[in-house]
Parts: sequence; structure tokens; C-alpha cells
Amino acid sequence: MPYRFTFDLSKVPRFFFTEIATVSYQKGMHKSLLDRLQSLIIKFRIEEATGLNINDAIVLLQDFIDVQAVNMIERSKFLQTKKRALFLPHCSRKYLDSRCRASFNADIPSYTCAHCSEECLVNQSSQLAATKGYDVYIVPGGSCIPKILKNTKYEGVVGVACGEEIKMFGPFLNSIGLAGQAIPLIKNGCANTVFNMETLVNAL
Ligand code: SF4
Ligand code: SF4
Repeated sequence: MPYRFTFDLSKVPRFFFTEIATVSYQKGMHKSLLDRLQSLIIKFRIEEATGLNINDAIVLLQDFIDVQAVNMIERSKFLQTKKRALFLPHCSRKYLDSRCRASFNADIPSYTCAHCSEECLVNQSSQLAATKGYDVYIVPGGSCIPKILKNTKYEGVVGVACGEEIKMFGPFLNSIGLAGQAIPLIKNGCANTVFNMETLVNAL
């Protein structure tokens, strides 16, 4: 399920995400997380940069922090896993029309990238993950994931999606004992979405 608002943090300085990571480490130690979030929003001019109002910006940042905090908790368990899968969202393909040469297999269900564009984030990340031994799935929605995980047994999973989707599927992964790492989109909108490659590389 997408957010009820759109956002684009792809032009926000990288330092912003370092600050978010710092807040995640310190979560629970602060009397007022809300105050900290508000000051980050002001410091990085998030309202001006994204057009988000303060309430939506807080929802978004809170999700980033929650995802980061769960990643940190799960990290050591994830590092012990051997058989892993990477789930990429179809919305991050460079093209969503017929210019995307990926084939879709409804039986899996997943796209298979045909590597038609070197700039395509899905292409770059699927090639990188494959060299690291990951099975890669490019899914049209989170609802495909349970079927894939039922058909093939994995120990660890890395997933890229908007925060709302991550929040929905995190408890599911936990319930079946999988160690997960999640990378939230920094630009949503269900088309031409963006995630940070460096964050993905670190997670893999
Ligand atoms: S590189 Fe792959 S995913 Fe990206 S547009 Fe081309 S075929 Fe589609
Ligand atoms: S932004 Fe992408 S991951 Fe999120 S709901 Fe839309 S299609 Fe799914």
C-alpha cells in the first residue's frame, strides 16, 4: 500500500540520512523523538525540498527510523544466513512501459531483467546481488512475496520498498523466522521510484 502522499528525498544531502541513522541508534534514549525529527526537518529544509507538510514529513522520518532500528536489531542474525533473496520493487525500473525489456513470469511471480539500460537501478542492483549469490526477484507488489517464499526456502531476505510496504511485510518475515534487511525508497509515487544504491550495497 503506498503512502497517501508522494515524496522525493533523492536530492536531499546524504548527511541527512546519516543523521537519521544516528537518531535510530539513539532511539529510546531521547525524551522527545518528535522534537528531534522536527529539528531535522527544519535543518534540512525537508518541507521546501519535498513539498511535504510537517505532519507527513514526520510520518516519513519516523518510518525511516523504525526501518533502520529493525535493520540494526536483525543485522547479526542476517549476517549468519547463507541462502538469501533480494526483492526489488518493479516501480524502480527505469521504464514501466514496453521499453522495459524484462519478462514477467506469473508462476514465480517475478520480472526477470533483460539489462536494457545501464542506468536502471533495478538492473544495477540485480546484477550486483547475483554476483553475491542472491536470488533476485523484481516484484509488482508485496503480495507476491509470500508465494515466492513458500516455493523456495531462504534464510535471509533483503527487500527494497516504500516504508509502508516494509512495515506491512516485516512482521510476516519475522513470523516465518526469516532474517531481513530493508531499504526504504527515497522517492515514492509507484513509478520512477528511487532507492539509495550505497545503502543497498551495504545491506547486501
Ligand atoms: S534494465 Fe531491466 S528492469 Fe531496467 S528497464 Fe531494462 S529490462 Fe527493465
Ligand atoms: S511505491 Fe513502489 S513499493 Fe511502494 S506501493 Fe508503490 S509500487 Fe509498491
